[in-house]
Amino acid sequence: MKTFCGRANPTTGAMEWIEEDENYDYHQEIARSRYADMLHDKDRNVKYYQGIRAAVSRVKERGEKAIVLDIGTGTGLLSMMAASAGADFCYAVEVFKPMANAAVNIVEKNGFGDKIKVINKHSTEVTVGPDGDMQCRANILVTELFDTELIGEGALPTYEHAHKYLVQEGCEAVPHRATVYVQLVESKRMWSWNKLFPVRVEAQDGEKVIVSPSEMENCPGVPSVCDIQLNQMPSSDFTILSDVVTMFSVDFSKPVRSASTSYRVQLEPVRSGKAQIVLSWWDIDMDPCGMINCTMAPYWVKSTSAFQWRDHWMQCVYFLPNEEPVVQGEKVSLLACRDEYSVWYKLQKARGEEENKAAARVESPVCRCQAHLLWNRPRFGQLNDQNRTGQYIKALMRVPKSESVCLCVSDGSLLPVLAHCLGAKQFFKANHLEDKIKIIETRPELLMSSHLEDKKVSVLVGEPFFTTSLLPWHNLYFWYARTAVSSHLTSNVTVLPQSASLHMMIVEFQDLWRIRSPCGTCEGFDVQTLDDMIQNSLNFRESKEAEPHPLWEYPCKSLSDPQEVFRFDFRETVPEHSLSTEGSIKISQKGKSHGAVLWMEYHLAADISVNTGLMQISNEKGNCEWNPHCKQAVYFFSSVIEAETLSDLPGDVTYAINFNTKTGEIAMDFKL
Ligand code: SAH
Repeated sequence: MKTFCGRANPTTGAMEWIEEDENYDYHQEIARSRYADMLHDKDRNVKYYQGIRAAVSRVKERGEKAIVLDIGTGTGLLSMMAASAGADFCYAVEVFKPMANAAVNIVEKNGFGDKIKVINKHSTEVTVGPDGDMQCRANILVTELFDTELIGEGALPTYEHAHKYLVQEGCEAVPHRATVYVQLVESKRMWSWNKLFPVRVEAQDGEKVIVSPSEMENCPGVPSVCDIQLNQMPSSDFTILSDVVTMFSVDFSKPVRSASTSYRVQLEPVRSGKAQIVLSWWDIDMDPCGMINCTMAPYWVKSTSAFQWRDHWMQCVYFLPNEEPVVQGEKVSLLACRDEYSVWYKLQKARGEEENKAAARVESPVCRCQAHLLWNRPRFGQLNDQNRTGQYIKALMRVPKSESVCLCVSDGSLLPVLAHCLGAKQFFKANHLEDKIKIIETRPELLMSSHLEDKKVSVLVGEPFFTTSLLPWHNLYFWYARTAVSSHLTSNVTVLPQSASLHMMIVEFQDLWRIRSPCGTCEGFDVQTLDDMIQNSLNFRESKEAEPHPLWEYPCKSLSDPQEVFRFDFRETVPEHSLSTEGSIKISQKGKSHGAVLWMEYHLAADISVNTGLMQISNEKGNCEWNPHCKQAVYFFSSVIEAETLSDLPGDVTYAINFNTKTGEIAMDFKL
């Protein structure tokens, strides 16, 4: 069987359907899965085990047989915990076939073959009865179906169905309940991920301010959750406006309703400010009395001793539809609305009960301005980055203007508007300013002289930024576009950026290494089958790939100097042949070499650059500061080498990197 996978082609900037064999999707899913991260989450595992033991004991104390339903069993971990705790029988349901197969294997290997039945189905397809998947309804319901937003992976409909059809009334549930917490904050940094701030341009004929249209100003944005490692957000980047309050909770031992609903809480602002953001996280109580609690609370809420790093559960940032001033001590009410899979928020000033009831049905936010569909949160942040904009302005000011005809190739870029403010005569492709800036709806290779009114382009600009780019070098599509429009350029065309460079550094991650590190055993259970499966998927086609990560969220320290590995000259066309480089990097710091980080820098002029990666190494320990609006590429080494002292540094890491100009992809290989 063949499957078609949508993938952006970095040489055309377009989404293409690529025919892959049936294993491709499966290997991608396994290789990039969060199973390993969950199994490394000691805090989660220990608490599940405690909760499961307690639930089994309660059922046994009642003199009943303990029949467990584990929905979304993954590796079979929670079922094995239940069986070890004395459960009489476990039904382990897993919809994802490769994982269900792995669970069968792991369960066998750990000697639970007679106690655990793996059912490869979605829980809503599971049947109960003498000929069914389950002989009878279960009296213990164990699941781990939560995402950062709690309900985004469909926990509510799954529970609703399970209570109706798969478990007994009065069953024990592990976890017993989940509680969602919120805190109101003001944060210029986070607000800049949602609204476009005015851009100031110092032109020869005075200062000009580019403001966003009012549709954009008043747009409620998109409902998709913004989940981040909030623990990496320094407290100086936001102002707390309210205490932490409970927004809502769900009791999993009782019938659950998944239908849309809303919740309201009263907040008394602890200081005056602009309410912009609702920060939110949840905790789960594994037992009814709340003694076994697993929380996602950020650092300023909980003590650091309880800290467990995890990537499968983070924290949520919700943007209020508009910023609203709040006054210390003057109560406001916060409304949370949810459907089956997502949550959104609205602030309401104190008013009559009736009025509030009427206002309680708030529609899910729908972007009206298009910008929230075109730009994701980091892109908003990037466009609001005044330093970055400053670099473009500086570079554009140097471009000869009098008779210039500029062509911009970038997605949703403000460059045309900037250049126009700085006096470019005519500009193609952008928004508004219709008479001065013309949007050409065509692909670069299809550009015709008539699009340009038979003029030649004297200035070609790009940020470059393209929404389809996943890895840093995918924005090299600018180079391909530049090549495609060559015949429309004047002989002395200014290309801005004139070049780009790819940089690399070896790092030790504080935590991110866990997501790709083998587990071996988890709470005493042998889960090596999963390790092997992940390794096999990573080696699929024998080519390990770099993966994109926003490293501002994942602290690391540098073990080598940063090194330039490639330079791409945009003044020339893309060469026919591939570019290859080999070399070595000296490890100069002690630590664990987890992998290499790669990023791009764009050179707008000889002395003006925009860096999308390493901003600085902030101290002698080597802690790195990364561009907060971009993802960098991480290549995890297949084995980690550790140098505990400076005298046993491992020497050099050698690398071979190849930029395939036909595909636009970069392949790499390292030897430690
Ligand atoms: N229980 C494991 C794995 C949790 S990950 C552990 O705690 O380590 C959640 C798993 O649930 C995924 O493998 C996903 O495929 C599966 N899943 C989610 N919803 C499901 C449903 N309704 N029925 C069956 N499997 C489901």
